[in-house]
Amino acid sequence: ENVVVAVDGTSGSGKSSTCRAVADRLGMRYLDTGAQYRAITWWMLRNGIDVHDADAVAAHAEAPVLVSGTDPLAPTITVDGDDVSVQIRSDEVNAAVSPVSAVPAVRARLVALQRTLIGDGGIVVEGRDIGSVVWPDAQLKVYLTADPSARAARRALENGGADLSATQESLLARDKIDSGRAVAPLTMADGAIHVDSTELSLEEVVDLVVGLVME
Ligand code: C5P
Repeated sequence: ENVVVAVDGTSGSGKSSTCRAVADRLGMRYLDTGAQYRAITWWMLRNGIDVHDADAVAAHAEAPVLVSGTDPLAPTITVDGDDVSVQIRSDEVNAAVSPVSAVPAVRARLVALQRTLIGDGGIVVEGRDIGSVVWPDAQLKVYLTADPSARAARRALENGGADLSATQESLLARDKIDSGRAVAPLTMADGAIHVDSTELSLEEVVDLVVGLVME
């Protein structure tokens, strides 16, 4: 059975931790589409492409070979054969990923790639447009949000105590571009269930989502 659980939401709302734990609990695979947008962005920066030049980005959208590993306990992403799991979390990539993700040719390429991965067995997919664009027929759609201060606190902790206000600024800057772009803006998909994780622990969110999948 091709069960798809689509989890969309703002940066730092707890999507990754939630999705990995849900997939692990249910014996499903896990796909981090944000990692794919980050990986293509990393490749653009690496190759000296001006990430604010949409035509230049579009011209190279097909160039890097991207492979996503979908084990929820050890997700991986490679670009041209090299694992870039660590590099894609840098400040440089954080600052460049939203403009790159707003380029239609980038989205077309990655959506097509994602659809080849989610047709086979059960998978939990996290992103911004999974329930609205990539998999509108998903069995369950969750829209995960949290207050900006809660999101920044979690993300700063993940990044080994990074500066709180700088982290919050970076999250909000990405949200603004992601919500305002012309193609596939971040919105709550039709039929999505809104989960606000501000006051919930990770375990509580995971229990809630697992419960929704079992319904
Ligand atoms: O989820 P994460 O914060 O790693 O995503 C990084 C960026 O990738 C987002 O800010 C957004 O610009 C882009 N993205 C997207 N569509 C997705 C997943 C991520 O545009 N499905």
